[in-house]
Amino acid sequence: MRLMRRTRVTRVTLAVLVPVLMLLGLAGPAAAAGAASAPGESVPGGSAWPEPVPVVTKVDTEDPVVFITIDDGWGADQAAGARKLLMDRQIPASLFLLPGAYEAYPEYYRSLLASGPSRVENHTVNHPDLTKLSYQDQRAELCDARDRQLAAFGDSPRLFRPSGGATYPWPFYNEDTRKVARACGAEALVMWSQDLSWGQQPTGELESGDIILLHMGPTLEADLTRALDAADAAGLKPANLRQYVAD
Ligand SMILES: [Zn+2]
Repeated sequence: MRLMRRTRVTRVTLAVLVPVLMLLGLAGPAAAAGAASAPGESVPGGSAWPEPVPVVTKVDTEDPVVFITIDDGWGADQAAGARKLLMDRQIPASLFLLPGAYEAYPEYYRSLLASGPSRVENHTVNHPDLTKLSYQDQRAELCDARDRQLAAFGDSPRLFRPSGGATYPWPFYNEDTRKVARACGAEALVMWSQDLSWGQQPTGELESGDIILLHMGPTLEADLTRALDAADAAGLKPANLRQYVAD
């Protein structure tokens, strides 16, 4: 087993290194210096890892699409109408859920995921202010959330949205967060360009690539309806965020 594993690693390493070396011409001292600085994580061969994930506030696309994102997950028992709307219209929502919330309402989320294109994404376990945590503590928040999601749904998160903690304005994330996100399987840190949570109105007409923030709870059905109406008015349709930023 060990031999097989080593063979696979060598093959992967070569597959990555060959095009990189071709791009560089040759691996000079600059490449070596740039590869030395990531704290806490490394792969065989000494390459720096993980590379920080990109931060996406709005998707750079000309396609007539917007992206529906729904955070946290508490109050699902007051959002039956929102689930029906998501399922009836087959909206590909990105659900940045806390494990405690989907474990409190398992039927709600399982049926939603089983009957439509929505997916659960990573939003930490305890919703802390990540900027106050060490690299290792941030890693525990994100990787534990990933592991619990995999156990609950058989699907790993590909996107991460930082939690805000309890005070505003929030810094939300730092450089460690972007590295930890990669280490825990995410390919982008997703913020938003329009916040329509809790009855808020859009700031101007929606545009291609807008990422719309909503929150689970009693106002979600009305908030989602307002978001879909605003998208319709602008000639835009909800699309799958993973396909745009994580594929
Ligand atoms: Zn949140």
